[in-house]
Amino acid sequence: MAAAVVTDIRIPANLLPSDGRFGCGPSKVRTEAADVLRSLSASVLGTSHRQAPVRSLVGRLRSGLGELFAAPPGYEVVLGNGGSTAFWDLATFGLIESTSQHLVFGEFSSKFAEAAAAAPHIGTPQVVSSPAGTHPQPAPSEEVDLYAFTHNETSTGVMMPLRRPEFPAEAIVAVDATSGAGGLRFDPAEVDVYYFAPQKSFAADGGLWVALLSPAALERAERIGRSGRWVPAFLDLRIAITQSRLDQTYNTPAVATIILFVEQLEWMLANGGLDFAASRCERSARTMYAWAEGCGFASPFVSDPAQRSNVVATIDLDEEVDADTVNKVLRANGIVDTDSYRKLGRNQLRIGMFPAVEPDDVEALTSCVDFVVSAL
Ligand SMILES: *Cc1c(COP(=O)(O)O)cnc(C)c1O
Repeated sequence: MAAAVVTDIRIPANLLPSDGRFGCGPSKVRTEAADVLRSLSASVLGTSHRQAPVRSLVGRLRSGLGELFAAPPGYEVVLGNGGSTAFWDLATFGLIESTSQHLVFGEFSSKFAEAAAAAPHIGTPQVVSSPAGTHPQPAPSEEVDLYAFTHNETSTGVMMPLRRPEFPAEAIVAVDATSGAGGLRFDPAEVDVYYFAPQKSFAADGGLWVALLSPAALERAERIGRSGRWVPAFLDLRIAITQSRLDQTYNTPAVATIILFVEQLEWMLANGGLDFAASRCERSARTMYAWAEGCGFASPFVSDPAQRSNVVATIDLDEEVDADTVNKVLRANGIVDTDSYRKLGRNQLRIGMFPAVEPDDVEALTSCVDFVVSAL
């Protein structure tokens, strides 16, 4: 079929998902959360983030996240503006003493390594990398004072288990959980810094960073802060910690984002917490990978089933099926953001299966792809 007319392909209504948003961030925002946002439009939106209505939301966010992650005593939830990308710089200034070790297995994990490599005030980072579609193992080293892991590499659809390396005892473990947090299980005792942003599993908008910090990480931030190292105030973790303890942020946050974030978090908690949220993602992932394995024209990109992400599926298509064309037809039918990560350069679909996405909709999506491919 010529490119000019493929978008005329109509997927039968009975095959369509109830919601067509399958992006990996920004990702589907639940309509119920948007309704709550509207209900607060005259009371909380447009009011001071230094007053009780917004501060109580930030307080619910901090305590609710502690509950969701079953944080051990002494762990604290800290937040600020700038998203996970800003947190790489906060960590480079305020958490890496001199040598970090980065497990690099995709676009996002490489960016923190690049930030550390470019910083003049710390040593050269150690980089342990593995081919796209796999994750490397840490290589414990006495020189390392911070291990940088990524719970879910969003660019490739690989997830990794979080385990503290055996040594050195003083090293802290910092995990980029931007797309994994809220959708993947983990043991918080294995990590010191679990940081993320709310536009993925927490179904809100971007722009904030949030970090669960262990007592060791809080102590590290305090010690580096006192050492005399120059840190721009916006990237100063100590300031963020002080402000967070007051249920505030250093500068003005997006109040609407906080409302959506709290709404998604409390929806998870009311339904059973992380077990509920992770189970939904697991069900979606089982459906997606079983379909890809049984399908004549597709296959999971990640070959080791244990490394296949429960929140971001990457599905390769055979050469004769052009993923860009499939995505174009899906989009014309209201199913959006199934495109692969550009820089990966593969003939691939990438599907966000965050907790807000209905597992039944993931099933419906597979039927829609089958229909589109048979119609092409
Ligand atoms: C989306 C993403 C980021 C970037 O998050 P921002 O909030 O846009 O800075 C970083 N790391 C991972 C793993 C991501 O998925």
